[in-house]
Amino acid sequence: MQFRDLKTQYTVMKDEMDKAILDVVASSAYVMGPKIKEMEAAFAEYVGVKHCIACNSGTDALLLALKVWDVKAGDAVFVPSFTFFASAEVIVMQGATPVFVDVDKDTFNMDVADLERKIEQTLKAGKHTPHVIIAVDLFGLPADFNAIREIAKKYNLYVLEDGAQGFGGRIGNQKACTFGDISTTSFFPAKPVGCYGDGGAVFTNNDDWAQLLDSYHIHGKGSDRYDNVRIGMNSRMDSIQAAVLLVKLKAFADHELVDVNKVAERYTEKLKDVVKTPIVPENFYSSWAQYTLQVENKEIRGGLQAALKALDIPTAIYYPIPMHRQTAFNYLNPNDNRCPISDQLADTVISLPIHPYLTEADQDMICDAVRAFLKK
Ligand SMILES: *Cc1c(COP(=O)(O)O)cnc(C)c1O
Repeated sequence: MQFRDLKTQYTVMKDEMDKAILDVVASSAYVMGPKIKEMEAAFAEYVGVKHCIACNSGTDALLLALKVWDVKAGDAVFVPSFTFFASAEVIVMQGATPVFVDVDKDTFNMDVADLERKIEQTLKAGKHTPHVIIAVDLFGLPADFNAIREIAKKYNLYVLEDGAQGFGGRIGNQKACTFGDISTTSFFPAKPVGCYGDGGAVFTNNDDWAQLLDSYHIHGKGSDRYDNVRIGMNSRMDSIQAAVLLVKLKAFADHELVDVNKVAERYTEKLKDVVKTPIVPENFYSSWAQYTLQVENKEIRGGLQAALKALDIPTAIYYPIPMHRQTAFNYLNPNDNRCPISDQLADTVISLPIHPYLTEADQDMICDAVRAFLKK
């Protein structure tokens, strides 16, 4: 069994996908060109935002956003401790200081009470200037943006939505990748919408920022690429990936997002009486980048993982080490970065296989195996 079955997905869309890729090969427009424009327009329209700038990865997308806001040494940027490393890494790449915020034990997303606490603490210490909140849509569920935006307004901070896992999620009718002043996503193959390599995108309604993003992602270009007005990056999306993404977005919007939600609903129905299943708050909709259980402790988790592995059921631990415990961040003051819920989750979470092509028979087999182990 596959944790995320990209091969079946390809088989289903093979004819259309092969043609899309070969059309780009035949066109000889490999970098930039019309496919990129088409992809950017389609993704902007899907999420409901004015500008989409395609780039080389979800990490670059975050970095580009921080460049637009001139995030630099002396700035504090608030980011959840329970996330993928890239969410925090980009802060330091700009020379700024990450401040780790704890997460909510039910949603895995930024705890807004701790966010406010950490902002106050940073202001009081007076060493760094609060500048940006990076809120992550972890496992496909949008962060609590209504509350986060209130806090951002109160302290005059920018909100950067890291929607690398969140594409397709919603709060009410508003889609993920529209909640930040700037929002980003990743098209790494295993994300809700993935390409066949690395890819990412930045979304914003702000015309000036869109222009800056366009410049930064092509060597700080001015009127053309040989007129360089600022120090930028080489972070263009390949035209082949844009063609892949146009095919993928169609399937995602047509049935994949609904199908993956059906899998999650079924899992929850079958497992909620034996284990803590993921909680989706009222009015929120997840794109289920991961389906993550919480067990009582690390020993039980190890046992469950081994029992499933023996039945050829793959599982994954997202994430075993929270940011405030990462070696790369050892230089930060641990007292500024306490995140007890993140510590607890690192020991107790386990993610089950989930994707739109997971058969009901496999879902049943997985649920039976989880139940059998946990009821012992
Ligand atoms: C995957 C991921 C990223 C980085 O995306 P890449 O395309 O791999 O660079 C950033 N943040 C989160 C939360 C992610 O899951």
